[in-house]
Amino acid sequence: MKTRCAIVLASLVAMLPSGCNVEMEHMAQPTAGDADAGADTRAGAQGNTAPTRFTEAANAAVAKALPLADPQDFEDAQRGFVASDPDFVVKNATGDTISEARAYAFVTGDAPPSVNPSLWRQAKLNSVHGLFQVTDGVYQVRGYDVANMSLIRGSSGWIVVDPLTASETAAAALALARKHLGDAPIVAVIFTHSHLDHFGGIAGVLPEEDAQRGIRIIAPRSFVEEATSENVLAGVAMGRRASFMYGMPLERSARGHVDTGLGKAPVRGTFGILEATEVVDRTGQELTIDGVRFEFQFVPHSEAPTELTFYLPEHKAWCGAEIVSHTLHNLYTLRGAKVRDALAWSGYIDEAIERFGDAEVVFASHHWPVTGNARVLDYLKKQRDLYRFLHDQTLRLANAGLGPEEIAEAVELPSTLRTAFANRDYYGTVSHNTKAVYQAYFGWYDGNPAHLDPLPPVEAAERTVEAMGGGGEVLRKGRVAAERGEYRWAAMLLNQLVFAEPENKDASEALAGVYDQLGYQAESGPWRDVYLTGALELRRGVQGGGPNIAAAAGLLSHLPAGEFFDSLATRLDAAKADGKQVAINFIFSDLGETHVVTIENAVLHHRQRDADPAAAATVRLTRDFLVQLATGQAGLREMIFSDDLAVTGSRLELLSFFSLFDKSDGHFPIVTP
Ligand SMILES: [Zn+2]
Repeated sequence: MKTRCAIVLASLVAMLPSGCNVEMEHMAQPTAGDADAGADTRAGAQGNTAPTRFTEAANAAVAKALPLADPQDFEDAQRGFVASDPDFVVKNATGDTISEARAYAFVTGDAPPSVNPSLWRQAKLNSVHGLFQVTDGVYQVRGYDVANMSLIRGSSGWIVVDPLTASETAAAALALARKHLGDAPIVAVIFTHSHLDHFGGIAGVLPEEDAQRGIRIIAPRSFVEEATSENVLAGVAMGRRASFMYGMPLERSARGHVDTGLGKAPVRGTFGILEATEVVDRTGQELTIDGVRFEFQFVPHSEAPTELTFYLPEHKAWCGAEIVSHTLHNLYTLRGAKVRDALAWSGYIDEAIERFGDAEVVFASHHWPVTGNARVLDYLKKQRDLYRFLHDQTLRLANAGLGPEEIAEAVELPSTLRTAFANRDYYGTVSHNTKAVYQAYFGWYDGNPAHLDPLPPVEAAERTVEAMGGGGEVLRKGRVAAERGEYRWAAMLLNQLVFAEPENKDASEALAGVYDQLGYQAESGPWRDVYLTGALELRRGVQGGGPNIAAAAGLLSHLPAGEFFDSLATRLDAAKADGKQVAINFIFSDLGETHVVTIENAVLHHRQRDADPAAAATVRLTRDFLVQLATGQAGLREMIFSDDLAVTGSRLELLSFFSLFDKSDGHFPIVTP
């Protein structure tokens, strides 16, 4: 069994509900902050303005419309409570606190006016942490990480399902379970799907020495491939965008980050992965693991590229992995990702109802279980119909001639779905998920010729601002819109001004104030975080250093050489490479592999084969050396001319080859040009 730490740091960043990463520079996460006093009009610690009367009214209307006091979810979240550690603190290898019981202690009581009360309710539920019994022999540790770790008692030990994001949180969660359930060994691990928050913590429950002992590792087909490659090529941009989606630079407070909707914030610890010893690749596949019968359902290309669910017939318990949860999930994720298949997703839940419809309990990789057959069926049908409704209604309206923005505005869940808390917009939203369905069928173009080749943002903004009477007039109109509580319109106006006049501080502050209010009103955790991170960056500039590639060298060193060259190909500077034709042999002494890398037509190809005798240079190196070269840990010229590098042929050619690639630091602006 081979351990292969996952991949480029940037891809890890992007992979979370996938979120966080190893080392985000300058990403101290301020905790706490007092709940807003309604009358407090001072700016928050990060400059956020107070909620306006429009925001207070909008949030009050939500509180009035929803039965927020309904105790059912709170009873479900507390059911089977075994124990908790009210003071748990988990630190990473560098001593930073990455998860702690008290980080969200401010989420208590009624919602402050700066938080949508429905999101506040969800945040309270997600703050419930500890060890819980799901049913006889099945337990979950919740609240240590964005996801849950589940434990199933076998005849000789524990079967662990989804060992969290980081080894540190996984170890802490397991320690809590062991303290109260005893020291039985771990006999098997099940990875439900290829997202980092469900496998990254493997080393915390199964140290590598143990992993050699023939412990059974069950995962869906192509697990490691999907887990390590889903986001490699686009990882830098996804990582930057993920910091918005999860509000990574925000303080945790009533005017900052309160919840992701799916769970608490992603954790920044140590990640690992193990390859499966047994693969699940069809529905109906059965395994007996340590005396426990499992019936699997294979659900690829739904919530994740590869995923499984399983039924425990002896317990009448279905683990729905992440295809069911207590939120409308993402058909599109705001960090940027390929859109997900709503029809397949809904179909899998329907199939689960067919196959496992006698279940007495449903538990999942996030949130709390649902018990009792009638409630289970009601919950599953509503989750199924949620995705099916969005799919069908988007197409109905598209076929009636509506474009994606019009569809997003027009679609509203029917009364029977929107009144179920598990179907609400806490993580995904009806708005952006209908756009995802549109994109899946029609792509980015809505059919309107004016949208085929529009001017790019800065040029469009400069001309629009001029046409509207100049910067002063646009600022005035933007402020008037904000004063009327027309925040979506105000954001459109002021965004034009910020892109036309990025140095205009009044414009930036006016837009930031608008983003504050949009964030405070959002029911979705990611929408709130996106708006509030946007406001923060308008006020204080780009936050965080982006993925620290050099710090990821240890992970990069596990990357197969072929994937490394694919990643390199996406950094080729087309203008510099135009007209260049070059071949370089890379002979990896440690891997026993030779790769011939060629550039022509401004495209990089690589083949693993014998060295090309006509190549401009032949380099003998180790993978670590390649990582150092690529991450710029030493000067390029210095490394290439060092005695450590064995080169036959031209070192100058080699230098010019490496000069053709971008060094993307993932530090680009988003809310300004
Ligand atoms: Zn997850």
